[in-house]
Amino acid sequence: MKKPLIALACALMCAGATAATPWQKITHPIAGSPQSVGTFSNGCIIGAHPLPLESDNYQVMRTDQRRYFGHPHLVAFIQRLSSQLHQDNLGTMLVGDMGMAAGGRFSSGHASHQTGLDVDIFLQLPHYRWTSAQLLRPQALDLVSADGKRVVSSRWQPQLGTMVRLAAQDDEVTRIFVSPAIKQRLCEDAGADRDWLRKVRPWFGHRAHMHVRLRCPADSLECEEQAPPPPGDGCGYELQSWFEPPKPGSQPHKKKTPPPPPPSCQALLDRHLL
Ligand SMILES: [Zn+2]
Repeated sequence: MKKPLIALACALMCAGATAATPWQKITHPIAGSPQSVGTFSNGCIIGAHPLPLESDNYQVMRTDQRRYFGHPHLVAFIQRLSSQLHQDNLGTMLVGDMGMAAGGRFSSGHASHQTGLDVDIFLQLPHYRWTSAQLLRPQALDLVSADGKRVVSSRWQPQLGTMVRLAAQDDEVTRIFVSPAIKQRLCEDAGADRDWLRKVRPWFGHRAHMHVRLRCPADSLECEEQAPPPPGDGCGYELQSWFEPPKPGSQPHKKKTPPPPPPSCQALLDRHLL
């Protein structure tokens, strides 16, 4: 099994601040039946739906960014999970970035979230509604100690574990990214039923939110699925390797120029940005 290197840090998941991308200029979904195209980190979406911004079960953060679009499967997933949490009186779900109106590459913040099948959800479940000011400038709650090795117990609540488990048990979900320390905590707290842990993947950052990824919809013929996570609950060696110091001599990851978008996405850009 390959050992993840700390040096890979941001290059793969958090794109950092880069130049504006043409995708940001497309402010409304592309008409057509919903189609996710390409890969999670190089793709786009036709026929995206906006997540309804009003709900009793969830609240949407940073709506000024207009990153609340996704495949209808993603919208349905958010509605399904939040209504389950609400029904069980676990709190109100806080929804962060989904994708832009036509998906595509962001200028900052994410490498993935490009096909309308990814969503960030805060690891907080308040029992009161946030004000619109709080939602526009959300306060992330860092659940992990400064050295990255453990969850800060005073900040952790069992309902957060329940939320991750319910999301992982959803058939549409293929992966959930959280900080290695959070995965560790979930591993420790899980009982005999631990199949769902396979989908929970340790990754850089993700100390205050989980990133949920859905499978390619069956009728999105140009959507490229990722290989499934390795078998097992992922609580053993693989997880431990995240807590070890990087091997001496490991090279810092160089920032690569992003690849050109898939032809269907490029065609869409050409049509809409003439
Ligand atoms: Zn994310």
